Amino acid sequence: MRYYNLKDPKTTAGFRDAVIQGISSGMGLFMPERIPVMNADFFRRLPGLALPEIAVEVGAHYTGDDIPWPELRRICDEAFDFPVVLRKVDDRKHVLELFHGPTAAFKDFGARFMSGCFRYFASHDERKTVVLVATSGDTGGAIASGFLGVEGVDVIILYPYGKVSRLQENQLTTLGQNITALEVEGTFDDCQAMVKRALTMPRRDDTVRLTSANSINIARLIPQSFYYFYAIGQAGPGRVLSVPCGNFGNITAAALAWKSGLAIDHLVAATNINRVVPDYLATGVYAPSASIQTIASAMDVGNPGNLDRLRQLFDNDFEALKAGVSGYWFDDDSIRRHIREVHDRSGYTLDPHGAVASMGLDSYLDEHPGATGIFVETAHPSKFSDVIGPLIGKEPDMPEHLKRFLTGKKCSVVMKPGYRYLEEYLAEKYSLR
Ligand SMILES: *Cc1c(COP(=O)(O)O)cnc(C)c1O
Repeated sequence: MRYYNLKDPKTTAGFRDAVIQGISSGMGLFMPERIPVMNADFFRRLPGLALPEIAVEVGAHYTGDDIPWPELRRICDEAFDFPVVLRKVDDRKHVLELFHGPTAAFKDFGARFMSGCFRYFASHDERKTVVLVATSGDTGGAIASGFLGVEGVDVIILYPYGKVSRLQENQLTTLGQNITALEVEGTFDDCQAMVKRALTMPRRDDTVRLTSANSINIARLIPQSFYYFYAIGQAGPGRVLSVPCGNFGNITAAALAWKSGLAIDHLVAATNINRVVPDYLATGVYAPSASIQTIASAMDVGNPGNLDRLRQLFDNDFEALKAGVSGYWFDDDSIRRHIREVHDRSGYTLDPHGAVASMGLDSYLDEHPGATGIFVETAHPSKFSDVIGPLIGKEPDMPEHLKRFLTGKKCSVVMKPGYRYLEEYLAEKYSLR
């Protein structure tokens, strides 16, 4: 399989190079040259397949010769060694819980698959791979946990001082080993700018390979399509999928699965008040803006990075996109109200992100009486206990494996914002020039 640069389709790369580069020239996103179509035999067997089995069969089309089959099998078995849970809510509604991984958010799927790929690639490279990540919270935790102990790979995470929750900070700073946390005395944007500069800097000699692990890496996108196959396999074909959207990677992965022949009926893009895409779907005018802070904070994105990929999957045809995807947005008050109502009615505790998807699905089902659907729960509610606690009158129970992040000894390197400080640090640690 080849991957082309969305901004310059003549530039292409194989899976391995697309993953290691992360982003193509001119900040262009990599896109698979063709979307594999799964055959009738696969779909007949789908209800009986476990997630790692689906991952190998679908994933092999994307990784091609760059990862041998037994290796891919091992990567998928190790990456997806935690449950995906589909629950029936009522006759028209299911919830797909994607928060049973080590950091209790769906980003574990992408991070763990990507780290498996990096581990394999690093084992064929003399040089050490250094992965740089800027995070405003959840991504860094998933990457840190996914890459912990991976041989030949160091991970350096930049996060803004004082702007992530205690639990999130501990997920970045208490692991140790090959994971280093840089606490930048600035904003998330400062962190991101520092990473970008480091990656685009011309280097005189390559003693290490510097790369990134941000959300636009194709090795994070592809595995996010696997659980949609699983969900439709379990629930049955012909359903609407409602996805809580921020950078629009997760819904783009659903569109990938759809194009591979999965029986999805329609997509719902549910957002918080960062409503650029719902507005775009309503008006045809795309007007990116600065992000606005909400209680569904992992979705506070004003200019979603994956939208170009989603458009491309609909052949850049606005009418086709509109026919396939509906947008809905919700403010913090309605998110809070919905969490409380659902808890009072059924005892089920939503997190703020899943609540947005749940409301998006309800809105669509109200307008389409014959439809049935699945909404996606992307994080465990206990990660947002300061929001959820007051709404349901108690602290949501925390999974045991998260509890250990409440203690643990924080270890970080404090750094001033500005590229030269990062460069100094890298130069010292890896004798980079
Ligand atoms: C990242 C994230 C999202 C948004 O996913 P995108 O792929 O960026 O659209 C939603 N919910 C949670 C909990 C997240 O961490």
